[in-house]
Amino acid sequence: PEDRGLDEAAARHRWADLAAQVREHQFAYYVRDTPTVSDAEYDALLRRLGALEDLYEQHGLRTPDSPTQTVGGTFSTDFAAVDHVERMLSLDNAFSTEDLAEWAERLRRELGEGDWHYLCELKIDGLAVSLLYEEGRLVRAATRGDGRTGEDVTLNVRTIADVPHVLTGEDLPELIEIRGEVFLPVTAFEELNAAQVESGKPPFANPRNAAAGSLRQKDPRVTASRRLGMICHGVGALRWAGHEAATARQSETYRLLASWGLRVSAHTRVVDDLAAVQDMIDHFGENRRSVEHEIDGVVVKVDETTLQRRLGSTSRAPRWAIAYKYPPEEVNARLLDIRVNV
Ligand code: NAD
Repeated sequence: PEDRGLDEAAARHRWADLAAQVREHQFAYYVRDTPTVSDAEYDALLRRLGALEDLYEQHGLRTPDSPTQTVGGTFSTDFAAVDHVERMLSLDNAFSTEDLAEWAERLRRELGEGDWHYLCELKIDGLAVSLLYEEGRLVRAATRGDGRTGEDVTLNVRTIADVPHVLTGEDLPELIEIRGEVFLPVTAFEELNAAQVESGKPPFANPRNAAAGSLRQKDPRVTASRRLGMICHGVGALRWAGHEAATARQSETYRLLASWGLRVSAHTRVVDDLAAVQDMIDHFGENRRSVEHEIDGVVVKVDETTLQRRLGSTSRAPRWAIAYKYPPEEVNARLLDIRVNV
């Protein structure tokens, strides 16, 4: 409402101001691993920017490089830049049951009444990493970056116990990019922060920032001391002639990844209606502490990969998936209030 009734110049001015704020928060979050506002405040700012773009559609505020249309943020860092074979995307968000129903309705319009399934997964609050395996050997690991180009963190990722240097099994893909989340278990986070305080260093704001800070270390020995985990939740580029059927359902792909020695989530559910999706959301909303890592929501995907391809993606997110976000937990807000780790 505060953005209504502006003339074109004022609307442009407001847009530039909000976009600059988003960019600043992105820098603090993605590069310095030290957020200056809570995730909920950041999400609200980004939604306000999107609403402003809708409101003044006729002035063309929604440019292709708007933060509402792009992934993460483009910043150069001390790490070597590497290009992903296939782009890494973000996810669109749902903040309510209505948002979720709207998304499902769009799917139904696109896909018709046919037979398809929802794949429900915990949204792991960590940082996205892509693993590149060639003939079963880990040749590179990279952060998401702006989706096209990420940071080369191969040496650091090699220290994570969940990440095999060589996949087990025969008849492995010529090339596969595996996407997943690097995280710090909640207990490891608490121990790390206690140790930070003990040695006079500032504690991390939350497990996500601690994980990102631990992974993006110049010295891999520091990363190795941090007990990071990695859970896989997707596949990017894949060259594996003659095995198309093996990845017809994303849930089947997870079984395949597990058989090669990669870690996948134990909490994934395949269901066939929204009521069951809602059950999962409610269950983990009430039991967020029952999982070893922090969760900030539930990701709902279409399980059938041919339908995923048919739905395609926008410049920043797939149309076949959505992240239902839980309301923020108070503990993070409290930690942020005391401006830690700056
Ligand atoms: P996102 O975190 O909302 O969702 C996309 C990411 O979810 C993917 O890249 C993927 O790595 C991850 N993910 C976790 N579990 C997954 C699963 N099971 N399946 C698929 N993907 C899964 O979006 P984003 O673009 O990474 O980051 C934006 C979010 O980061 C914001 O909504 C906000 O919460 C936070 N952020 C906060 C600040 C701040 O200043 N506090 C700044 C920038 C971003």
